[in-house]
Amino acid sequence: MKLTEILNSERLSLSFEVFPPKTDTAFDSVKHATEEIAKLSPSFMSVTYGAGGGTSKYTLDIAKNIKANYGVPTLAHLTCVSSTKETVHQKIAEIKEAGIVNVMALRGDLTPELENSDRSLWAYRHAVDLVRELKENADFCIGGACYPEIHPESTNQKEDIKYLKEKVDAGCSFLTTQMFFDNNLLYNFLYKIREAGITVPIIPGIMPITNGNQVERAVKLSGSFMPQRFKSLVDKFGNTPAAMKQAGIAYATDQIIDLFANGITNVHVYSMNKPDVAEAIQNNLSDILGQ
Ligand code: FAD
Repeated sequence: MKLTEILNSERLSLSFEVFPPKTDTAFDSVKHATEEIAKLSPSFMSVTYGAGGGTSKYTLDIAKNIKANYGVPTLAHLTCVSSTKETVHQKIAEIKEAGIVNVMALRGDLTPELENSDRSLWAYRHAVDLVRELKENADFCIGGACYPEIHPESTNQKEDIKYLKEKVDAGCSFLTTQMFFDNNLLYNFLYKIREAGITVPIIPGIMPITNGNQVERAVKLSGSFMPQRFKSLVDKFGNTPAAMKQAGIAYATDQIIDLFANGITNVHVYSMNKPDVAEAIQNNLSDILGQ
């Protein structure tokens, strides 16, 4: 099923992101975790693509399993920045063969090696190049990433939104956001992108922070602003794992309820392959979802 069917519906729904294993030995435990999340029957699940394509084989293995054995619509991520045209064509063929119709088209992060290489030799410089390639070669429902607090490489939001519009015009049917911890940032962003003529569904991405050690890494990777309310919670409970988990789930739930109350219909939760966290959030919303 193409995700646009879900995203264009008025019903409130929740989806989860999982990531594939980095090694063969971790495959079974990751597969099991993703199956436990699939049993919650989310509206869809996305499976990330390892930076630089490292775990690319497993992205499709996990996505195929979730779709075939649990009937959950899947979204396979694909990155392009370190790939040749041949590799991307091969990946497109594999995705088609797996029967997956939803693809998240990403550039991928720049490694220091890539940063210092000759960009004129790259087959794909930006996600928009991959979107065009996907459009030319298949009938996928294509998603793209967006950044309510601007992409860390962008000099300003106006420029970031200009390129985002280009990506949507090239063929993205929806956009999923980077994590954020203050919903007002999302509402401001929505206002600006709608004003710029971007009308596709936006799926806010919510990261439940359930472990004090996660905070620094999450903020470093995303550049997200930490509201004082969230900082206080981490200061108070960050060193007590069970309390931090409970508080992190409550904070994420609160963010999601506010998003639904303000007109968002699908929220994507970065589950970090934790079925208990995914289930707790879903249970907290049991009478809200499906409205
Ligand atoms: P782009 O859309 O190419 O944007 C990157 C930068 O280039 C931005 O600053 C943008 O303004 C600028 N830009 C865009 N087009 C142009 C242009 N034509 N000319 C000049 N500048 C331009 N990474 C993974 O490795 N695997 C994953 O599975 C994965 N999943 C993700 C899912 C989500 C929801 C998000 C938000 C991120 C994900 N990432 C993933 C991280 C992503 O790869 C990085 O954030 C990366 O740095 C940018 O990817 P992008 O697709 O947004 O790039």
